[in-house]
Amino acid sequence: MLVLVINCGSSSVKYNLIETSDGSDLCKGMIERIGAVTSIVKHQPTGKKQIKDTRVITNHTDALQEIMNYLLSPDSEIISSPSDIKAVGHRVVHGGEMFKDSVLIDDDVTEAIQQAFDLAPLHNPPNLKGIQAAKEHLPNVPHVAVFDTAFHHSLPAHAYLYGIPNRLYRRYKIRKYGFHGTSHYYVSRQYYKICNKPVDQTKVVTCHLGNGASIAAIKGGKSIDTSMGFTPLSGIVMGTRSGDLDPSILFYIMEKEEIPMNSLHALLNRHSGLLGLSGYASDMRDLIEEANNGDRRCQQAIDVFCYKIKQHIGTYTATMNGCDAILFTAGIGENSSLIRKQSVAEMDYFGIEIDDERNENVKPGEITKISTDSSRTDIYVVPTNEELVIAIDTAKIAQAKSQSPWV
Ligand code: AMP
Repeated sequence: MLVLVINCGSSSVKYNLIETSDGSDLCKGMIERIGAVTSIVKHQPTGKKQIKDTRVITNHTDALQEIMNYLLSPDSEIISSPSDIKAVGHRVVHGGEMFKDSVLIDDDVTEAIQQAFDLAPLHNPPNLKGIQAAKEHLPNVPHVAVFDTAFHHSLPAHAYLYGIPNRLYRRYKIRKYGFHGTSHYYVSRQYYKICNKPVDQTKVVTCHLGNGASIAAIKGGKSIDTSMGFTPLSGIVMGTRSGDLDPSILFYIMEKEEIPMNSLHALLNRHSGLLGLSGYASDMRDLIEEANNGDRRCQQAIDVFCYKIKQHIGTYTATMNGCDAILFTAGIGENSSLIRKQSVAEMDYFGIEIDDERNENVKPGEITKISTDSSRTDIYVVPTNEELVIAIDTAKIAQAKSQSPWV
């Protein structure tokens, strides 16, 4: 089934056109700086040259129009009619407590996504805009929401409750939700295919290390804990997000710097993390380069990042009473041998031993074992593919809808 996968940010739309029968990507692309004077448009048809251009694109509906125009243009030769697209899958960041699985989007689902605006003010509003825009252009196909939070619905109460009055959980649903669920799900399933062990006996730590970063403990195929929490701000240090803090620091900063709540929000979400620590960059490649040139603060930012990863691996190994495998994924996890090595250094007490040569020779896009043969815990680099998970879930739900006697 040909599925269009849409991932909308506040000023961007990413898309993939995926044939789910074989998982192939026909085309992918991105429109950035929506609403700015000029927007950047990129289309990457598989096996062909990338198209990069600038246009005036004022909103998400126009962005979807641009995508459809490109996919339908005789030059691109990708699809010949909108009806070639059989379903649309939407990444939705926050599903709250309501959504344990992906769902067909109807009015009730739209309302529930809207109700979670408070929980993910940066993500859910643009996600909904994307849904509305895509429905305008493709009104006759099923639209499916795939939630970043859904895979972590299996967290037990002792992992998701915070130490605050319980009425705040009951009244406002303040609890740990966890994010990057589709990525943690995908890489753990890739590992199960090669591990020669029944899934219900496996204990895995997945490290999704990108601009946003999170770590999950997956026992018997189910997420039982993860580093992100009520929002994607918590957990390990990220590109521009602080990760976990002593909550008292927030009151202290507000008082000392005399700043209001929204400035504190921006400080923690956009000016902290690797960027804040280094005072130089949020991008790991830039930090590694400057650290190699002798910049002390860039080196410190890298050290803090790796220390937090190591702490979580240790914590989750204790939580699960063991760990069969550590899986590294996303931009940093897949590409940086240095970060992988530093994050698992000196963990032989846990039976974790990285093989330097294997770690240095990981081929992009391939699942690669990077632990020594004597390591009690396997370490793998596993390329993630969140879009494929979204496409497959969407196809399943669309198919079920088409076979339902009630439609
Ligand atoms: P993502 O959010 O998954 O796209 O990951 C983005 C992050 O991956 C950025 O911090 C990049 O600097 C980092 N990254 C990509 N390639 C490399 C590389 N070769 N070495 C270190 N970091 C990388």
